[in-house]
Amino acid sequence: MKLPFKTNLDGKVAVVTGGGGVLCSCMAEALAACGAKVVVISRRPESSQRTADAIVAAGGVAKAHACNVLDRVGLVAVEREVRETFGPVDILVNGAGGNHPQGTTSREYLFPEDLLESTPDVKTFFDLEFKGVESVLSLNFTGTLLPSQVFGRAMAERGNGCIVNISSMNAFTPLTKIPAYSAAKAAVSNFTQWLAVHMSKVGVRVNAIAPGFFLTEQNRGLLTNPDGSYTPRANTILAHTPAGRFGDPEDLVGALLWLVNDDGAGFVTGTVIPVDGGFNAFAGV
Ligand code: NAD
Repeated sequence: MKLPFKTNLDGKVAVVTGGGGVLCSCMAEALAACGAKVVVISRRPESSQRTADAIVAAGGVAKAHACNVLDRVGLVAVEREVRETFGPVDILVNGAGGNHPQGTTSREYLFPEDLLESTPDVKTFFDLEFKGVESVLSLNFTGTLLPSQVFGRAMAERGNGCIVNISSMNAFTPLTKIPAYSAAKAAVSNFTQWLAVHMSKVGVRVNAIAPGFFLTEQNRGLLTNPDGSYTPRANTILAHTPAGRFGDPEDLVGALLWLVNDDGAGFVTGTVIPVDGGFNAFAGV
């Protein structure tokens, strides 16, 4: 992969949860290209293996694990194995996350007619399913907290380490239709600040990257029509993104490599860095 710049991560061990996905596979590959031994964690074995294989094919070192970030026992087993094979973990990227259709309303606004029994196909706020809402909150927030506990402890004991959480634009201002995902990412940003303060006396820096809009499998249904054209929501996003385009996964690599570099970002902790083509700065007028 083509890096925006190189940072020396020789001898470092990096864990990337969600590393089988679109954005975090790119991050995992970038860390490996800078010399880190990378542990790829995804829920499905084939997706973490795909990323690990790509890293090894490019001359790097990687190991794939299939583990649910909400399964503390499973995470502890991975941590032990990583320590025995690669050594203690230096970098943790908490990338596993996402939305769920059951936590999503079908319209942006609630209209009086949506409350009539004659519109059963409209999913309003009142129809959101508890299970869907709860699963989104758990995956994004608890799925960041648990790996930070499991992999962060040895960092604190050694007095050095770096955690990078993955937040979102919806953490700053909630996006329409996705109340659970917005609340969950706000919790991730808030937790990033909390953990940065808490870990500040033991040499562990904690920051987050807040990606803007990237066309990935998670949001393809919201942003594209079956024929591939953009939905009105996608066009609204582009109209509110001064850069005038969706992001590419590679757009996140520069912020990541800077944050994990102790020389470049040694005084940077508790921040949430937007990588969004200007979306967060633009009022729309
Ligand atoms: P993706 O769906 O391509 O990848 C998600 C990855 O997380 C997959 O590898 C999946 O296996 C893994 N995962 C899901 N649930 C898991 C669990 N319980 N345990 C372990 N692994 C699990 O998603 P993506 O678009 O690459 O998003 C990566 C991160 O970036 C997510 O946190 C997402 O919320 C965030 N994000 C994405 C966008 C975007 O536009 N795509 C924007 C802002 C933030």
